[in-house]
Amino acid sequence: MSDFSPDSDLAPWQRTAAGAGLLAPDGTIAATIFAEMSALASRTGAINLGQGFPDEDGPPEVLEAARRAIADGVNQYPPGMGMPVLREAIAAHQRRRYDIELDAASEVLVTAGATEALAATILAFVDTGDEVVTFEPYYDAYAAMIARAGGVHRTVPLRWSVGQGHDWRPDHDELRAAVTDRTRIILVNSPHNPTGTVLDAETLALVVELAERHDALIVTDEVYEHLTFGVAHTPIATLPGARERTISISSGGKTFSTTGWKIGWVTAPAALVMAVLAVKQYLTYVNGAPFQPAIATGLGLADAFFTDAAAALAAKRDLLAAGLTAAGFAISLPKAGYFIVADAAPLGYSDGAALCRELPGLAGVVGVPVTAFAHPERHAAYSSLVRFAFCKRREVLEEASHRLAALSVK
Ligand SMILES: *Cc1c(COP(=O)(O)O)cnc(C)c1O
Repeated sequence: MSDFSPDSDLAPWQRTAAGAGLLAPDGTIAATIFAEMSALASRTGAINLGQGFPDEDGPPEVLEAARRAIADGVNQYPPGMGMPVLREAIAAHQRRRYDIELDAASEVLVTAGATEALAATILAFVDTGDEVVTFEPYYDAYAAMIARAGGVHRTVPLRWSVGQGHDWRPDHDELRAAVTDRTRIILVNSPHNPTGTVLDAETLALVVELAERHDALIVTDEVYEHLTFGVAHTPIATLPGARERTISISSGGKTFSTTGWKIGWVTAPAALVMAVLAVKQYLTYVNGAPFQPAIATGLGLADAFFTDAAAALAAKRDLLAAGLTAAGFAISLPKAGYFIVADAAPLGYSDGAALCRELPGLAGVVGVPVTAFAHPERHAAYSSLVRFAFCKRREVLEEASHRLAALSVK
């Protein structure tokens, strides 16, 4: 967005923020497509499959632990690194699931969701002109944070190759070309939002190889680590050579259906944690005291909770996948996460953003165009794609499928 030139009549703060793409050119807040689509859903009564939040509560033990913490007076500032009970639970979780040994006192940091972990990490390590490589489409906050830190966002496209089982994967030569000595961070999101892809072992190994060769950090956003459908999640930090240069980020929001609690965490070597903490302590300082022991309870739940949650979500995926396919969309079946990307081109719609604005009227459903996850100059590659969330109750997905069927009989 280097060619973006904000209105010269703006106040200096507006020009700074507009230059980073955080404000519209006229200085007003650029409403995200998510806000626009949610507003559209509530105005029209359409089923909102736009924003990715569950419409059912998570495990009762976790909710009860938060209530108990409030009753027990866990209501003041927790320690800056997070409550020991949670840091220890995170370390125990990493050991139990992935054989990663962590020092809970120095290698684990609790943050206000994965979002603050990402923001603090990017602000800690990205100087003006430093490059950050991500795949594209990407979680929309990445681009905003990189721009505001003065960094340069380089992307490697994930390509939807229909011939290969509808999988999204990067071209390895394009990945090699994107990472250079100017790269400060390779930011990996697997399992991936919006595509639901899980990066294969060769791609993860190439990321590590390139990070070592160019002395870049690896930042990995693993918020969907538990929500995979028949494939194992491999934390990139477990690969040979990765650990010392990897900052791993996760969160309780998606795993425990508590997206409003905003309890996230960073795990990394102590020196990297310190650098992130140096920024984080002046962002939120701390957050969510009573939710911290509750998420610790969640992380300690038996394996059955995690497998059941993933299986229940996989069944919802299948339900919406069948509905979208019956309606005439081409879909890529996600291997993980909350979302299905559907191609509206077979239905005769080439502009996904326009379709999303019409969809409440056409079918009483709201989705989000995949262009929201790509830089404007590359929108053409994603123009007919729409992201739909399936982290909703069965009845809601059944009703949405029923309504979407109207599209195929226009
Ligand atoms: C939801 C989401 C986040 C944000 O996580 P919070 O814990 O709610 O801040 C970060 N990354 C991805 C890919 C997400 O989908």
